[in-house]
Amino acid sequence: MSGLELIDVCKSYGATRVLECVSLSIAPSEFIAFLGPSGSGKSTLLRIIAGLETLDAGEVRLGGARIDGLAPGKRGIAMVFQHYALYPHMTVRENMAFGLVNAGVPRDEIARRIAQAADTLEIASQLDKKPGQMSGGQRQRVAIGRAIVKQPKLFLLDEPLSNLDAALRNRTRVELAQLRHRVEAALIMVTHDQAEAMTLADRIVVMNDRRIQQVGTPAEVYARPANAFVARFVGSPAMAMLPGIVTGTAGGRVRVSLPCGADLLTAVPAGDMVPGAEVDVGLRPEHVCIAEPGEDGIPATVDLVERLGDRSFLYARLGDGSEVIACAPGFSAVRQGDRVSLAIDAAAAHLFTADGTAHHPQPEARA
Ligand code: ADP
Repeated sequence: MSGLELIDVCKSYGATRVLECVSLSIAPSEFIAFLGPSGSGKSTLLRIIAGLETLDAGEVRLGGARIDGLAPGKRGIAMVFQHYALYPHMTVRENMAFGLVNAGVPRDEIARRIAQAADTLEIASQLDKKPGQMSGGQRQRVAIGRAIVKQPKLFLLDEPLSNLDAALRNRTRVELAQLRHRVEAALIMVTHDQAEAMTLADRIVVMNDRRIQQVGTPAEVYARPANAFVARFVGSPAMAMLPGIVTGTAGGRVRVSLPCGADLLTAVPAGDMVPGAEVDVGLRPEHVCIAEPGEDGIPATVDLVERLGDRSFLYARLGDGSEVIACAPGFSAVRQGDRVSLAIDAAAAHLFTADGTAHHPQPEARA
């Protein structure tokens, strides 16, 4: 059976184009994250799939059948909103039963589904409470439970974690990860938080500027970002981008120089890169570290130290003012204002040409 298919979906609000011919295929039990900055069209796309918004052109198919002409309730889709949207005057049980009663599901079947969902979500003891008597996390579970009882082919979750405090967000994140193994349906989650997308999704759909920028597994979008936007948006702290000039090639690999004078032999295949070309050199923090004593490093000044316990991030400036982030193990003793010498793993550098196109290091090209 096929899952969800979006074919050339376009949407404008008045004269403003919001989605530009978006196409995407999702497998029947995949967990997908729509990831992108605010205003990139994620919620609009989700609402089009749910039937809460019309599309101007294109098709939405679920399980092989076209659904974009169907009313939301007839699509086999359940949506969990950022604001739980529970009925405050109804008990948890009544909230969960509401959609099923309206759909004419028999009473004993409703009771069975609610019991099963309450069990899955560990809210069996809360069924007779009203939403107002519950914590934010519990209400979020009820909202998810209300979706589960519909036994949809597809769950849509709109920023499901954004209303929760940090501790609860982590717990709910684990619960969402477990949930996907307990339901036989695809899940699409909208988020602007790349950590949520990276930890939960089978594949991430990165959106920006009305378009899908990349679709890939978390590992793919992290290691082989399709363009400079994805490279900077995925990963925290973000990938540093240093201005570089291609100086030539060696052994089929591109050599670049940085304004601070450093010369880097990358593992990016030479391809059609020509000497003199301007590139951005993309470096993840884990590929920049403090140079060993005696090692030939690049002088830098540390602007900020972020100590996370197991590792520290050093936000540093090179001689020409360009910014780079280095990673150090444990609680770094380096302090703001310190002058340090940085070692760059040049073979891990990505190169981005002026049009944003990515050129990745090839493992076989690494020294
Ligand atoms: P995201 O979910 O990525 O933050 P949205 O899908 O909410 O993005 O919005 C995409 C763009 O569409 C934004 O520029 C937003 O202002 C615009 N937009 C969303 N909903 C409407 C609406 N009902 N009317 C007009 N413009 C809208």
